[in-house]
Amino acid sequence: MEYRNNNLYVEKVNTNFLSKKIKTPFYCYSLSKLKNNIKEFKKNFYEINPLICFSVKSNNNLNILRIIGRFGLGADVVSKGELLRALKAGINPNKIVFSGVGKTLDEINFALQKKILLINAESENEVRNIESIAKKKNKKVNIGLRLNPNIDAQTLKKISTGRNKDKFGISEKDFIRLLKKYNNSQNLNIKCLSVHIGSQILDYKPYLKMMNVIDGIIKKTNFKFEYIDLGGGMGIEYNKNSKKLNYKKYRLIIKKFLRRHKVKIIFEPGRSIVGNTGILISKVIYLKSSGNKNFVIMDAAMNDFMRPALYGSKHQIVPAKKNRTIIKKIHDFVGPICETTDIFLSMPSYQKIKENDTMAICDVGAYGIVLASNYNLRTKPAEILINKSNIKIISKKENLKKII
Ligand SMILES: *Cc1c(COP(=O)(O)O)cnc(C)c1O
Repeated sequence: MEYRNNNLYVEKVNTNFLSKKIKTPFYCYSLSKLKNNIKEFKKNFYEINPLICFSVKSNNNLNILRIIGRFGLGADVVSKGELLRALKAGINPNKIVFSGVGKTLDEINFALQKKILLINAESENEVRNIESIAKKKNKKVNIGLRLNPNIDAQTLKKISTGRNKDKFGISEKDFIRLLKKYNNSQNLNIKCLSVHIGSQILDYKPYLKMMNVIDGIIKKTNFKFEYIDLGGGMGIEYNKNSKKLNYKKYRLIIKKFLRRHKVKIIFEPGRSIVGNTGILISKVIYLKSSGNKNFVIMDAAMNDFMRPALYGSKHQIVPAKKNRTIIKKIHDFVGPICETTDIFLSMPSYQKIKENDTMAICDVGAYGIVLASNYNLRTKPAEILINKSNIKIISKKENLKKII
């Protein structure tokens, strides 16, 4: 994504032109960016030779999953729906892990039937259920146990998952007890220790603490895990001055760990693979000046893209056509939905905007379309994929008649 002659392009496609051809708002992804991110991620951990299971909840578009699958990645799923979608995209069951605190009996049954790599259990009662289902089927099932390492990932409160007050995983004490309790189970094979401490992590130190906790547990128990699943959480740069995650430091910590423990590492990245591959293209419906503010009322709203309203996260908004006139007034970029939280961004000043101008909300590839809803009875937006100058609709805009 870059400006040429003051026009915003995604690969070889002018976004202004796009917004005339396709009804706004819509998600627009770059294939080359996606490919690059996958290559980059692989390169960062090349020496570790991990199994990379893409976190399907961050973006579950079938087309995107197919591309990711073709690059040899597996999937991390958190529901039967995501498991079905990953399989439909051609991802090998042998590269699929199933996470989540509330897997139902139906979901566990289905996962066993599909012979996925691992079910990562998050509570004692879930382990009990998996065992009893496996017993009925007269099977021995591979599972992981998700540890809650009680670490603060230093990210947004609402996307932190590794503290003891969060609902995820099993405390160290219970973890060690469960290892002993189920070690000789006829129907369970505990193969993996899994963790995932949160999302949008930009500091390697929480990862260092996490690795130390894992190291401590292995030393204490002498348990032989075949896999250590480190989850995802690698942060991306949502703004220019953002800190960058030091992949080298993280890699070195893992390499050191692997010298002591012969295990296969699993990663479950979501955001770092798809986050910066997409923009949400929207048009300005109205401008409204009120008090000391200019409201820029766009045709995209919180139902199309929920992160700012849900987490208070900030996504840059850029014009499809740049100009040089700066208006020194607060600009609030808002949607038409009847909620005060339906605001994307507030800027102290902005270039001159006219009604019908095209704008792009940046870095919406992860946790974007997947969180879209029909709130205010609005249709969910289309998704398109750009490959050089080729434009492909990979998910149509919802049909208003159908949902009515
Ligand atoms: C959400 C989630 C991920 C992906 O997190 P990102 O921050 O998008 O990399 C990985 N593992 C589990 C268990 C998750 O819930």
